[in-house]
Amino acid sequence: MAAAGSGSFNTALADDKQGKKDDAPPKKRYRVIDTHVHLFNARQMGSDGVPKLNFLSLDATIEGYVAAMKQGQVDKGFLITYNAEDVAAQLRNYKVDPAMVRLVYNTAYQKTALKKHPDLFWWFPEHIDPVRETYLEDLQKNFEDGAAGIKMMTVFHGYFPDHPGFLPVYEMCRKYKKPIIMDLSYWYLNVMPAMNELEQRRNRVHRFSDYAALLEPILKDFSDIPISLAHTGTASRASDYDEVFPFIAQHKNLSCDIAASTDYSAAWLQKLVKAVGAGKVMYGTDWPYWTSGASSYLKGDRRWTMIADECPALSEEEKVAILSGNAQRFVENKLPTKVERGAAESKRDS
Ligand SMILES: [Zn+2]
Repeated sequence: MAAAGSGSFNTALADDKQGKKDDAPPKKRYRVIDTHVHLFNARQMGSDGVPKLNFLSLDATIEGYVAAMKQGQVDKGFLITYNAEDVAAQLRNYKVDPAMVRLVYNTAYQKTALKKHPDLFWWFPEHIDPVRETYLEDLQKNFEDGAAGIKMMTVFHGYFPDHPGFLPVYEMCRKYKKPIIMDLSYWYLNVMPAMNELEQRRNRVHRFSDYAALLEPILKDFSDIPISLAHTGTASRASDYDEVFPFIAQHKNLSCDIAASTDYSAAWLQKLVKAVGAGKVMYGTDWPYWTSGASSYLKGDRRWTMIADECPALSEEEKVAILSGNAQRFVENKLPTKVERGAAESKRDS
C-alpha cells in the first residue's frame, strides 16, 4: 500500500524539499484511487449545433482530468464509461436532447483515455440494457477487452436491478470474476421511474428499505460477487442513511463508494465508517460533476485530503483502506475480510 508516485510526483516532492513554498503541494503520503470518474468530450460543446451544458466544464475532458489527477496526487481512477443513449432518460430530464450531445457523451472518446493512459485507469463500462439485442455479447466483449468490472444503472434503462434480464449479467460477472458498481438511482426515482418495468413491478419502491428488499435475492444468489453501491446507495435525504448503512453492513459482498453522496462531510464519513466498517468504504468523487478546477483533489468539496486530515476518528489503516486499499481489493474481485468489515459486523451478527 506504499505511495506509488509517478515521475511528476517525485519531481514535486523534490521541489517541495528545496523550495519550501507555502503553496507547494503537500508531500505524497497516500496512494489515492478515485473510484468514480467520468470523462466527456466537453470541447465539442458550443459549436456545430452541440449545446453547451453548464454542468460540464473543460475539466471533464481527458486532458483536464489527467492534469487534476497529477496536481491532486491521485494515482488511479475507475473510469465509468457511458454514452448519450445510456443516460438518455436523465438528459431528457435536463431538457437536453440526447442525440445532440452524442459527441460529448461518447464512449469512443472515453476509451481513448484507456489507450493514452493505461496506467491511470481501470475501466467500468455502463451500457447494460436488457432490451438491446446484443447487450450480453457487448458485455462479454468488454471483459475480453480488459474491463475491470461493470457499472449498472438499471433505472436509467427503465428497470430495477432484479429484472430477469439482468440475471445473465450477474452470471457473466461471476464467470469472468468481475465486480459490479451498482447505481440504484434511488434519489432519481421521483423524476425517473423504472419506466420499462410492467406496472406491477414499477411501483415497488417507496422508501430505501423497499429497494433493499428487492435486492436481497440478488445479494444472496451472487454473494461471491463484490458489489459496490455507488454514491453510498443514492440516499435522497440524510434520514435515508438510517436504512442504507445497516443494509451495507448486513451483506458481506456489499460495499460503497462515497462519490457525490448526500450530506457529505467529514462527520458524515466517520459515521458511515463506524456503521459499515472501513473495509466497505471507497473514496470517489463523481468527477467532473463536482470539479472546482485542477486543485479540486486537494482543496475542493470532495477532496481526498478531508479523509487524510479531517477525520480524527479514523485510524491510519482505515484511511489507507478508504483512499486506495479497498479499491485495489475490489478490482481484484475480492470481498472485504472479516477484519476489514470491522466492528460493524460483530454488532450485526449477534
Ligand atoms: Zn457517476
